[in-house]
Amino acid sequence: MRFILATKNKGKLAEFKKLLDLPEIELLSMDQLPELRHIKIEEDGNTFLENALKKAKEVSRLSGIPAIADDSGLVVCALGGRPGVYSARFAGESATDEQNNLKLLEEMKGKSDRRAAFICVLAVISPKGKIFTYEGRCEGLITETPLGDKGFGYDPIFYYPPLKKTFAQMDAEEKNRISHRAMAIKKLRDDIQNIISALMEE
Ligand code: IMP
Repeated sequence: MRFILATKNKGKLAEFKKLLDLPEIELLSMDQLPELRHIKIEEDGNTFLENALKKAKEVSRLSGIPAIADDSGLVVCALGGRPGVYSARFAGESATDEQNNLKLLEEMKGKSDRRAAFICVLAVISPKGKIFTYEGRCEGLITETPLGDKGFGYDPIFYYPPLKKTFAQMDAEEKNRISHRAMAIKKLRDDIQNIISALMEE
């Protein structure tokens, strides 16, 4: 069965293919379908779920193929859940990862509660509107200063106590065993037979 992943990012497609790794599904990216190549979907929801549903709905409607979409970000306890859905643009519309990290560290100055979590929500939607959603979560602590040079986004300031490292000090294999995205994809993977049966009935 074919699914479209609501992304044009080749890295994300490769990561999903690796983590899903199921012979019964073929995963395509938006770039592989001419009708989706130029589509830009604004992520303007108030929650990760709203954004994931919006992207999956739009892509599935336009292609006529079941779609998978994700939305993820960092939620920090002492900041009341921010940056949340604003993670990519915390320090401004076209902010770099470094600017976002610096802003977060600045806001966390002097705060003793350093608890935070990465959250990833996945939505699977069929052209006729059947919906499946999955959430993955990874809990950690915000560091005082950036540590490590691997990964992307908030990885250098997100410390994962069980491995005593920040995400930016882990190689991809290690991060893929515990990350929020890996957890959400694993839940989808575990439910794939249920999804396929429901879609076959349409
Ligand atoms: P997206 O929904 O996967 O595009 O993620 C939105 C934003 O959340 C990214 O631009 C990052 O700032 C942040 N983010 C999501 N996942 C990660 C991660 O695994 N490491 C670091 N930052 C992340």
